[in-house]
Amino acid sequence: MIINISDVWAAAVNDHATFLEQAIEDGLAKLGSSIVEGQVAKFIAENRRIIVYGQSAELADCIQSFLTAFSGPLLRACAVEKMKLVFDYSSFSEKSARAWTAYDLCSRARYKVCCYCHMIETGTCLPDEEIKGYRPPIDHYYGKADYPFLALSLYNFIPCCEKCNGPQMKGQIDFSVTPHLNPLLDEESIDFSLGPIAAAADKLAEFASLTLPKDQYKLEVSAVKNLNSSSASIKTFQLRHRYGTYSERAYYLAKRVRGLASRRRFHDDELDFKIELEEHLEFKPDEYKGVPYGKARVCVARQFGRDLLP
Ligand SMILES: [Zn+2]
Repeated sequence: MIINISDVWAAAVNDHATFLEQAIEDGLAKLGSSIVEGQVAKFIAENRRIIVYGQSAELADCIQSFLTAFSGPLLRACAVEKMKLVFDYSSFSEKSARAWTAYDLCSRARYKVCCYCHMIETGTCLPDEEIKGYRPPIDHYYGKADYPFLALSLYNFIPCCEKCNGPQMKGQIDFSVTPHLNPLLDEESIDFSLGPIAAAADKLAEFASLTLPKDQYKLEVSAVKNLNSSSASIKTFQLRHRYGTYSERAYYLAKRVRGLASRRRFHDDELDFKIELEEHLEFKPDEYKGVPYGKARVCVARQFGRDLLP
């Protein structure tokens, strides 16, 4: 992930909890009286608060409780099948006349850019009689096939782009086994900088003054904290290659910001510089989460105009 979206569902918490409480009631009524079904009902009762209201960190504890309660592969497979009856994601995800669907949820998302790549917009348009509507895919941070009791949990939902959610990137990778950054929990720890390509690595003075040809600059992606999870996220979401194609735009941004920074040394009208910086960035610096490539642009602006940004 590039951006932390821990408050992405702030406007949806109550409505989603009401929906999920009812879904659990309806689902439990579908369970029979077999031993496995009894164990499933007991597990849900004991973990209900976490399933409905739990924040990201608690969901990992819930997974451990599940693995302990259903320890053999056969028992676990039976439990998974029964839990899928209770936590029915496919009916939630469809367009329907029901009061609360994935479309309603996504329309309340605070951020409308994919948090994993921060390149692609993920807006929602509610369907009605006239239009089909659309919404972003919802990635289950902890996969619903393995952990169906988290299939409808709000803090297991990551709105993202199709590419990041697809088989060529996240696909079936189990994030509870191979740690990656959790956009609902972890602090941002992937940064960007403009660097020289290998062939220009010894021309540092020309590089810094932005006088090399533009094709000798490359937008680099690096893990700065939480190194294992950050590196895994960079690799899984193929961020180095994907951001490489943004190098030229990053180079032109660097040129404009550097020009602004050098002019500032001779003037001191703070307000003018603030407005001009916003124009170059195309957003206010502290609103970077809501703009595709916003984090990368802020990082490059800071690199070439240190005094202009906090
Ligand atoms: Zn993405």
